[in-house]
Amino acid sequence: APAPPPARHLFSDTAEVEALRRSLLAWYDRCQRDLPWRTLAATEPDADRRGYAVWVSEIMLQQTQVATVIHYYTRWMQKWPTLQALAQASLEEVNELWAGLGYYSRGKRLQEAARKVVSELAGRMPRTAEELQKLLPGVGRYTAGAIASISYGQATGVVDGNVIRVLCRLRCVGADSSSPAVIDQLWDMANVLVDRSRPGDFNQALMELGATVCVPKSPLCSECPVKQHCQAWRRKLLGKAPPVPDVEDCGVGDCPLCPPAAEPWDSSLGVTNFPRKAAKKPPRAMRTATCVLERRGCHGAPEYLIVQRPSSGLLAGLWEFPSLPLAQDLQEEKEREELADHLQAWMGRPVAAKGLQFIGEVIHIFSHIHQTYVVYSLHLDGDVTLDPALSPSRWVTEDEFHASAVSTAMKKV
Ligand code: SF4
Repeated sequence: APAPPPARHLFSDTAEVEALRRSLLAWYDRCQRDLPWRTLAATEPDADRRGYAVWVSEIMLQQTQVATVIHYYTRWMQKWPTLQALAQASLEEVNELWAGLGYYSRGKRLQEAARKVVSELAGRMPRTAEELQKLLPGVGRYTAGAIASISYGQATGVVDGNVIRVLCRLRCVGADSSSPAVIDQLWDMANVLVDRSRPGDFNQALMELGATVCVPKSPLCSECPVKQHCQAWRRKLLGKAPPVPDVEDCGVGDCPLCPPAAEPWDSSLGVTNFPRKAAKKPPRAMRTATCVLERRGCHGAPEYLIVQRPSSGLLAGLWEFPSLPLAQDLQEEKEREELADHLQAWMGRPVAAKGLQFIGEVIHIFSHIHQTYVVYSLHLDGDVTLDPALSPSRWVTEDEFHASAVSTAMKKV
């Protein structure tokens, strides 16, 4: 087994832990943001409803800013206030409400898990982090800890991006914060720190501190309620004072939590020396040809053809203009020909490549894909019989398009 990290990186002084908890909770009581899921978690007497309310918020908040989530969350809870209501919704309805929030599989998995709770667990939410993670699809260690601590008062820690940043600064953790060994240490720290009588508030306070004070670029250290417990802050101050033995001494050995010896403390960065991450892989480049097929509807207004994507994979089940992934470095003429062949299958009649009008290119960045849509349009005269053997498709007006379950990328197109 690897040697345990030096105690100076850990929270081993119980008096200090107690003082840190008190300072953080007092700050949270004064400064917490007013958020709809917090109100629900604090006022909802029914435990299953409380768990559901926190669960929805945690899934929406993964990868998405609080300000964006508020509107979606409010609409979601109005439409499906209980697990039972969500279990009866169709995937189409879920996708429509989720449209624009990104990472669409989150909504789908949430609904699948709600159905499971209703059909297999008699509508009762699991009450502990261990059970939540084991029994609910799409619920990982973080989400399980958040639901269990906030809704059910279980004294269990949580580690998300904000907590990683705060803990790495509090304890000068400069080893790669995305490595499993460091993440394990951070979970241990979170479990030691969590307040036993107010675990949900404590976890939210730690995350709130990371979101509003201990922010990535210019943290507000002078206003920070836990600065007296922060080794990065102390290290920064020591830049001007005579050095005393401190965490920087760790780096001379093989400390598993210190910055690598080749990348020591950079005094120009101050506390933002932490956390550190290994360089990310650049996103994969993809090109997709897409065609906006337009016809005159029966009332004279233009209508557009949209088709449904497969039920798994990227943007599963969402609707889009007929699209075709392209090989990189294809000549424009060849791209047109391939798209025309593809459209022919939809329309059951020949499509001349020359008839496709090039409109422009749209770039959309997914988390791991740099997608370029090469956009064409085609106006159709007369009716088109769509082949029912192909994926589901339908004609929509512009308003109907915007109300459909379409991705942000397609709205840009
Ligand atoms: Fe973060 Fe600064 Fe507070 Fe330390 S003192 S926890 S670096 S905001």
